[in-house]
Amino acid sequence: MIMLVRFGPAGIPMQCKGTSTLDGVQCCAELGLKAMEMSFVRGVRMRDEMAAEIKKTATKLDISLSSHAPYFINLCSSEEKTVKNSLRHIYEASRATFLAGGSITAIHPGFYQGKSKEDAYNLAKKRFQEVAQQLRQEKIKCYLGAENVGKKSQFGGFEEILKLANEIDMIKPVIDCSHLVARGDFPLKNENDYRKLFAILEKELGDYVRHFHFQFQEVEYSEKGERNHVALGTNNDPPYKPLMKVIAENSYAGTIISESPWPDVDAKIMQEEYNKFNS
Ligand SMILES: [Zn+2]
Repeated sequence: MIMLVRFGPAGIPMQCKGTSTLDGVQCCAELGLKAMEMSFVRGVRMRDEMAAEIKKTATKLDISLSSHAPYFINLCSSEEKTVKNSLRHIYEASRATFLAGGSITAIHPGFYQGKSKEDAYNLAKKRFQEVAQQLRQEKIKCYLGAENVGKKSQFGGFEEILKLANEIDMIKPVIDCSHLVARGDFPLKNENDYRKLFAILEKELGDYVRHFHFQFQEVEYSEKGERNHVALGTNNDPPYKPLMKVIAENSYAGTIISESPWPDVDAKIMQEEYNKFNS
């Protein structure tokens, strides 16, 4: 059976008895999952020796790792201190991810805070370039995973993320399907919508569809955008079954991370649905 897509939870599985990232990696393997997103959302506190240990274990167990950078990032800010701290958070998350053998860190780029879309874009671009340069100099190989965000007040709509990825080599988009829906950036209701989404990704980013990085869960939202991530089967958009069908039928390859309240359970549900088309 060919498995071109890896599924895994955001953070340590709920079913895991241990509480460390290392425990989480082992638990993912026991659950039959193939990926895990390390959570750095409240700051990076991983020692280099621990990162090396995680890399060894994840390699042995064939778990592919990514991470989520801290939430307190705003690359569009006018405050020097905020920008400096944001760059540091991205640098630290990328470095720890790389040392742990991961390949991408998901980043919510920032907020408009009254700025025009153009000004916010230019500030974010300049600052992404700055941190990309620093990572390159230090030979830290970790993609900057600019993530399409879920709220209208946040910078990082679908088109903004695609444009950033086209203009900066080290950026690889993290596509959060629930955010596409909640922000009103792209409707996802059926197979055809997913086909259109992949057609755009292929047109804009070429072989990204052969190593995509997605986040997937259902979402509750208002006219302002995202309110809550919710579990699969709660009858909110986006629906996961048509996505599994489209990626299997087209042999798209990549990683899908669940950021639901039961991330490991939902990752497993998606994996089982996906496998139906591959057996
Ligand atoms: Zn995120």
